[in-house]
Amino acid sequence: MTMQPRERSSELYEEALAHIVGGVNSPSRSFKAVGGGAPVFMERAKGAHFWDVDGNQYVDYLAAYGPIITGHAHPHVTQAIVKAAENGTLYGTPTALEIKLARMLKEAIPSMDKVRFVNSGTEAVMTTIRVARAYTKRNKIIKFAGCYHGHSDLVLVAAGSGPSTLGIPDSAGIPKSIAHEVITVPFNDLDSLKEALERWGEDVAAVMVEPIVGNFGMVMPKEGFLEGLCKLTREYGALVIYDEVISAFRFHYGSAQTYHAFPDHAAIEPDLTALGKIIGGGLPIGAYGGRKHVMEQVAPLGPAYQAGTMAGNPASISAGIACLEVLQEPGIYERMEAQAMKLVEGIQAGADRCGIPMTINRIRGAFSTHFCSHPVTNYDEAQGSDAELFGAYFRHMLDQGICLAPSRFEAWFLTTAHSEEDIDRTIEASNESFRRMAI
Ligand code: PLP
Repeated sequence: MTMQPRERSSELYEEALAHIVGGVNSPSRSFKAVGGGAPVFMERAKGAHFWDVDGNQYVDYLAAYGPIITGHAHPHVTQAIVKAAENGTLYGTPTALEIKLARMLKEAIPSMDKVRFVNSGTEAVMTTIRVARAYTKRNKIIKFAGCYHGHSDLVLVAAGSGPSTLGIPDSAGIPKSIAHEVITVPFNDLDSLKEALERWGEDVAAVMVEPIVGNFGMVMPKEGFLEGLCKLTREYGALVIYDEVISAFRFHYGSAQTYHAFPDHAAIEPDLTALGKIIGGGLPIGAYGGRKHVMEQVAPLGPAYQAGTMAGNPASISAGIACLEVLQEPGIYERMEAQAMKLVEGIQAGADRCGIPMTINRIRGAFSTHFCSHPVTNYDEAQGSDAELFGAYFRHMLDQGICLAPSRFEAWFLTTAHSEEDIDRTIEASNESFRRMAI
């Protein structure tokens, strides 16, 4: 496929820089982590494909950082959005639609007795922390290095110098006093969690984790990690919060806490769960939920306040219902997995042939490519991959019409819309990229 120079994208980027801070509305969209320059400005998307403002077509593995699991403009989802728009997009009153989506979430994720809709994953996570603090009457939070939980103050805090030190802000504008309420420990490391709980346990409101990580590549918890985490946390009277903003409905019709790879679901059930992305079918959404007695902390029942003008809007809720309906079709996840397996085999073989170090972590239809030869089970190991090699690969792929996320820590997401032809085209482009990189 002949690609045109991305001249119009460059022009638009210059214009965007004059009006939008950094030219992008989310830093992850900039090309800073892959050598800089203008990001591609997309004009249209359908199924597994994008078309940019210069007329180039791309196979999309970004999937908008996760939500677009049924592909772009899926007819069932689109119809639901059109219908919602025709009926009025925002009422400021309860609707029957909200109950329907809440029921669907509860059926798929039984630890959620009660649900509340919000507008983003950030809001969902932020509120689970408030609820946990209200319930336990404690302030501190333990989180895991490299897990991203949105941009609220408490979760934008990185590790101190060891598991038993308090955190330091990861962003300007976060007071030290807030960072001091956060302890960061390495993922997959129960000893560090134990050490942190021994030191701070009495003050810890919650341990927050992505039960299957999607933010330093795709990383599975080691055998027994989630069980140990839940047990230890409860021994100290703290709550377990799962951030399933990426993982819910990504690997199967359900979430990580109900995923078949974990033998004992009762042993890994959290007290609170945060959701987002897929459950909005491509429109803005978040949701949180958990055990009835914990959720009863939330206003108007309890003292923990949380509200939202746009929360539960009929458009997002309708898109979410339609998306989950598509995902209930038999064979959907198996097909995405088969395609991801073929793709991963092709990419790995190409890298091996050219002597390029490559570790691929795949979980069903999602995977991450790490330019290193060691396994990646935590953030330190993910950071040990080669950023320059990823940047070069990203650019060669883009120049051949394959759209990846511009960060070595982000996943490739298959959708229900990817075809065999897309997979073959991607493997070919990957082989060519490695050949160019090996020169
Ligand atoms: N939690 C996780 C695991 C995420 O990956 C993200 C976003 O990527 C968030 C929370 C924040 O969600 P949002 O971008 O919708 O605020």
